[in-house]
Amino acid sequence: MSSQQTVTDYARTTLLRLSQLGLPPSPENYAKFYAEISGEPITPKPKESAEFAELVRMVQLLVDEVAERTGSLVSDLGERNRDMRHSIDELSSAQEKTRIMQLLEALVAKADSIHETVADTHEDLEATRLALDHMSAELIETRQSLHEDSLTGAQNRRGMDAILLREVARAKRNQNRLVVAMLDVDHFKRVNDTYGHDVGDKLLVHLSMITKSVMRESDALIRYGGEEFLLILSETDLQGASYVMDRLRQVIAKAPLVCDNNRIEATLSAGLAQLSEGENGHSLVLRADHALYAAKRAGRNRVVIA
Ligand code: GH3
Ligand code: MG
Ligand code: MG
Repeated sequence: MSSQQTVTDYARTTLLRLSQLGLPPSPENYAKFYAEISGEPITPKPKESAEFAELVRMVQLLVDEVAERTGSLVSDLGERNRDMRHSIDELSSAQEKTRIMQLLEALVAKADSIHETVADTHEDLEATRLALDHMSAELIETRQSLHEDSLTGAQNRRGMDAILLREVARAKRNQNRLVVAMLDVDHFKRVNDTYGHDVGDKLLVHLSMITKSVMRESDALIRYGGEEFLLILSETDLQGASYVMDRLRQVIAKAPLVCDNNRIEATLSAGLAQLSEGENGHSLVLRADHALYAAKRAGRNRVVIA
């Protein structure tokens, strides 16, 4: 099969899969399922912090360079300005025609040279500005990837506190409509033991991809621990959150991970908690966690509301 045919086949299979699962063929869903079906990597590896530090150092160097250039330009111009003023003073008192001509010529030459210096510096600064623009875009991207879990592309714990603070503050203005769901893969250790750690990893990627495809753009998925995820559902009450969880469990049941001719079925247990009056994010997450353990004790593959 030619590679063009393969691409078309992958695309067709992706669209078919989305329609079987009842998921909208949005660009995000398409990209996620296409990546899984074609075996192409889903999330680029985040930049290492050493690379981040190097980037920050480069920006610092560029900023120093700009400061130096503008500083030397200012002193250079100051000097020439004084020079020109001196020539103008002389001009006003000069009587002799040849002396006047000399002074005028000198003035024109000085003005030309100032113009040249300014133009050169302007060009240099423009190049520096472009480099800085480029680096600031990279810094933004790197900062985002520092908050991302490299395996699943979910947010990591580093990003969680900021998201919780923001969402709790928003919910306080909006009838506490904020629900968090603590999710844990049931008997995940068995998957590792039976198929190996790499397949376990693939299952985590697969499950987070499905979760991202059922949640809204404004919701957040955090990899809370090994096979535990926290879903932050903004502007949602318990009824809405239960609906999302049912849908998630249905899609997971319909879409097992297929890997080396094995169909790996997975189920989730979840604990839900809605923000209550005067509560902070930390206690909200703890309540969801307790509800998750209640779901485990009650036999797994279920959702318990705190
Ligand atoms: P339960 O239904 O009670 O949640 O059972 P479980 O087997 O899912 O839970 P347990 O806490 O006993 O095991 C979790 C396992 O997840 C143990 C750990 O080795 C594995 N794990 C944690 N992080 C990763 C990871 O990133 N990749 C893989 N493949 N396995 C992981
Ligand atoms: Mg588990
Ligand atoms: Mg666990």
